[in-house]
Amino acid sequence: MSTATLEKKQLEQLAECICVCVKCPLHTSRTVAVPGDGSTSSKFMIIGEGPGRDEDRTGHPFVGASGKYLDHVLEGSGMDRSDFFITNIVKCRPPNNRVPKAIEILTCTSNYLFKQIELVDPKMIILLGGTAVKKVLGFKSVEEARGRVVESNGRKYMATYHPASRFYREDLAERIEKDFGFIRSELKKCD
Ligand code: SF4
Repeated sequence: MSTATLEKKQLEQLAECICVCVKCPLHTSRTVAVPGDGSTSSKFMIIGEGPGRDEDRTGHPFVGASGKYLDHVLEGSGMDRSDFFITNIVKCRPPNNRVPKAIEILTCTSNYLFKQIELVDPKMIILLGGTAVKKVLGFKSVEEARGRVVESNGRKYMATYHPASRFYREDLAERIEKDFGFIRSELKKCD
C-alpha cells in the first residue's frame, strides 16, 4: 500500500472514531459529530472552533450562516472551499453554542485534530477565531496573529476572526475580508 493510500485510510479511520467518540462530555449534547471535510490531498487547512446547529444536524463543517459567509469571502478572494480540509477544534457541538471548555479542547485536539494535521500535512493552516488561535498558537487573541504568516513547530499559519463574529460585530466584516485578501496572496506563493 502506498504512503498516500495509507494516510487516506488513516484519515477515514480517524473520522470513523470521531463519529462514535465519547471521550469528553460534548458527546452528550451532539446530534452527530463533525470530523471535517476534505482529504489528504488538500493543500491547505481551515480550523474553526466547533460545530453549530446546522453542522450538528448535517455532520459537515461550516454549512450554516457562518459557512455561507465563509464561502462568500473565499469566493470574493478567488478561492474555493474545495482547496481546503475544513475542520474544527472540537468535533461535537457544545450546548447552546457555548465556547468549548479547556478539558474538551485538550481531549479533542490531542486525540483528533493534531493527527488530522499530521495526515493532511497542509502547506498553510488558516485559524478562524480566538479558540483556534489560542489553542494552536498559544496567543491571547486573534489580533496578535492576523495580517502575517506565523511559523510554529515547523508549520505555517494565518489567522482571522471567526466568520460568525461578523453577525454580532458588523465592523469585523471589513477586517475579515481584508484578511482573506492577504491569505489569498500568501497561499498563491505556496502553489
Ligand atoms: S468533542 Fe471530540 S473528544 Fe469530545 S466527544 Fe466529540 S469527538 Fe470526542
